[in-house]
Amino acid sequence: MDRTNPATGESLEPIPDDSEEEVDAALDTATETFATWKDVPVTKRQQLLANAGDVLRENKQEYGELMTREMGKPLSAAVSEVEKCAWVCDYYAENAAEHLQTERRPGPAHVEASVSYEPLGPILAVMPWNFPFWQVFRFAAPHLTAGNVGLLKHASNVPGCAQAIQEVFEEAGYPEGVFQSLVVHSDEAESVIEDDRVQAVTLTGSARAGRSVAKTAGENLKKSVLELGGSDPFVVLDDADLDAAAETGAQARTLNAGQSCIAAKRFVVHTDVYDEFLDKFVSAMDDVTVGDPTDEETDIGPQAREDLMEDVHEQVQQTVEEGATLELGGEPLDRDGFYYPPTVLTDVPRDSVAATEEVFGPAAAVFEVEDEREAVEVANDHHLGLGASIWTRDLDRGEEVAHRIDAGMTFVNELVKSDPRVPFGGVKDSGYGRELAVHGIEEFVNKKTVWVQ
Ligand code: NDP
Repeated sequence: MDRTNPATGESLEPIPDDSEEEVDAALDTATETFATWKDVPVTKRQQLLANAGDVLRENKQEYGELMTREMGKPLSAAVSEVEKCAWVCDYYAENAAEHLQTERRPGPAHVEASVSYEPLGPILAVMPWNFPFWQVFRFAAPHLTAGNVGLLKHASNVPGCAQAIQEVFEEAGYPEGVFQSLVVHSDEAESVIEDDRVQAVTLTGSARAGRSVAKTAGENLKKSVLELGGSDPFVVLDDADLDAAAETGAQARTLNAGQSCIAAKRFVVHTDVYDEFLDKFVSAMDDVTVGDPTDEETDIGPQAREDLMEDVHEQVQQTVEEGATLELGGEPLDRDGFYYPPTVLTDVPRDSVAATEEVFGPAAAVFEVEDEREAVEVANDHHLGLGASIWTRDLDRGEEVAHRIDAGMTFVNELVKSDPRVPFGGVKDSGYGRELAVHGIEEFVNKKTVWVQ
């Protein structure tokens, strides 16, 4: 795997791919390990997960530096990401047994009916580069603790993170084979999904990759969970706190250099507060410091790859050609590395690129709407439906509007974020299935009915 530091454009030492024989051996190991791992008491599996959380905390600086080097996020954000991974370990270390407890079900008299939650076996996780630690721990913490074993096919630009994550589990004391990283490219994923030793697959990434993985899983009748990104609306109603909305909106659009599935991408603003919000929002976007991700003053670093930066620029240019007005940014920075500035587009046509596609970089599309009804209509006018954020001082109104938005997650007066205590996932082309909370751990278990008469 060739690696490039996106902050400088310099090559990093490549990491050798796994051979076919190595992948085959890893699948054998996964199968053998599962045979005993599934019977390890859940309390023991929870203890190992708590150890993994400790390993993460002890090495957060080192792992943070690795992420920054491979995909360019600011070091402080990378270290926070490692801490968040430790949090999801803590969450399932405390709650997995309760989430997986056998449930008694009502049945006829003299019948004991129950549902138990039993692991499926080796699960393949195809993961992206944008949160290279978090996306993997969000998968591994629940599903390993449920008694499954994990196989990771990480994105090709972050193989060092994949290796480091495998080492976290080794250092935490997990048996060999409970979590293994396969150093393979995307065209090799299909044969792994098809393999009889693999029971299910989850993918976080683009809709294109999701369709391909779901097709192979479907042909082989295997369960899949897909988290495929979003174009989340950020709805500012006429009674919103505009300072807070503008400040949080800029953060929600530029976090991780805009490379987040739950970033706010389409700003839908009530006409009565449009001018005032836009002034504050453009100024907040302009205040975001772009620069060297190892510098403490930096808010956002480079885009993770050159092609990704070019994609964002092309989307911005096309949207301007389609009639949008460029209020801020709009040109890659003239320096080494793949830097794109905070960018704001207004007068965005409803059928333009920025309105209809996911823009995976720090470029915001702003829409002016006449009233609340039109705000909901614009928010829902998209093939993606991951998250949404609604801004109003009237909390009842916010909650009511939240229920009318087609999304898997709606937040009122807050940016959309993932939290181990609540489920994460989308509707429409944003995918299916849920991660995190009790809903996440239930995705890859056999909900087995036991009827005793
Ligand atoms: P991809 O969806 O191509 O990559 C994500 C993961 O899927 C990587 O591990 C990749 O492997 C793998 N993959 C890609 N194609 C297939 C396939 N056919 N079968 C199996 N696995 C596959 O994302 P990109 O990195 O190319 O980014 C493109 C766009 O995807 C972004 O601009 C953004 O819109 C969206 N995206 C969304 C993310 C999210 O959080 N929902 C995360 C990342 C991207 P490999 O690296 O080897 O190609």
